[in-house]
Amino acid sequence: MSDTFTQKVLNWFHQHGRKHLPWQEHINAYRVWVSEIMLQQTQVATVIPYFQRFMASFPDVRTLAKADEDDVLHHWTGLGYYARARNLHKAAKIIVAEYDGKFPADIDRVIALPGIGRSTAGAILSIAEGQAHPILDGNVKRVLARCYAIAGWPGTKKVEQTLWEIAARHTPINNCAHYTQAMMDLGAMVCTRSKPRCDECPLQAECLAYAQGTQATYPGKKPKKTLPQRETVMVALSLHNQILLKKRPPTGLWGGLFGFIEANCVDEVVKSHQLGDYQQTSLTPFVHTFSHFQLHIKPFLIELRAYPLKGIAEDSARWFDILQPIEVGLAAPTQKIVNEIKALR
Ligand code: SF4
Repeated sequence: MSDTFTQKVLNWFHQHGRKHLPWQEHINAYRVWVSEIMLQQTQVATVIPYFQRFMASFPDVRTLAKADEDDVLHHWTGLGYYARARNLHKAAKIIVAEYDGKFPADIDRVIALPGIGRSTAGAILSIAEGQAHPILDGNVKRVLARCYAIAGWPGTKKVEQTLWEIAARHTPINNCAHYTQAMMDLGAMVCTRSKPRCDECPLQAECLAYAQGTQATYPGKKPKKTLPQRETVMVALSLHNQILLKKRPPTGLWGGLFGFIEANCVDEVVKSHQLGDYQQTSLTPFVHTFSHFQLHIKPFLIELRAYPLKGIAEDSARWFDILQPIEVGLAAPTQKIVNEIKALR
């Protein structure tokens, strides 16, 4: 049985919903899972080529579980939030070890996997298995907060709980796969963050925010904090066409990705690596914003005449040919600096 809200959403989906996205073909839990993880904080148009490359290299959970972490992170380069890729890889290994390679069909087991919260688990099981579970991603939060004029930031427990209750109330027992997709599409295509297309919305008659003209008030904004500012110097050591990158520790900022040497100043690197004769070029400084701080990056290129005396014997450091594709995971700032160095050649 479904209520009017649900029926309107489903009718809208049949007419206007997206039905030909790559992960809507050959649907299985693995493909839906990968797509849902990629779609967190990322637009559909950005995700499509990443999803296609990922599936071409890792078509199933066993292939992903066996893959080298650097290769998995390489397929994520540019998507950001790299913990998503590391968790995907870890979870694939668990699925192979504990579930014989079959994605679990029980929601609590799915939530227990690394990197999968209640909403993502609900989306995977409803879309891939037709199970009835509510979802509450950013798009759905926005639609429900507006429809029901739920004040407050959904990041607080109380607001989130209220939204979950509303989401659960409208989730149908049958046809949940379409309903889940419909709610995501409605949030992405109609009830957009700015300038929602209320005239095209199937929920207009139900929507309190529309009735009050207060769409912009919902969902409530996160209380603003000034982000702490940090600085770092990134040093690209280069010799002929090679650049030195170091693999970062598995946890923490850009965990498991390759990056340049970081220091407080170039001199520190010159001394610690006992660099001989070199030529130094200042690259373009820029700011990289994380959710919890802003990093002011000053990049330098140091062109060497000979290998440094210290520091390259470490396991974590490798020379890469700048003229070839670098097939390991790189954080966005590293990629940006690599691009600038390439442009100088
Ligand atoms: S009527 Fe407008 S604000 Fe309300 S749910 Fe639809 S698009 Fe969003």
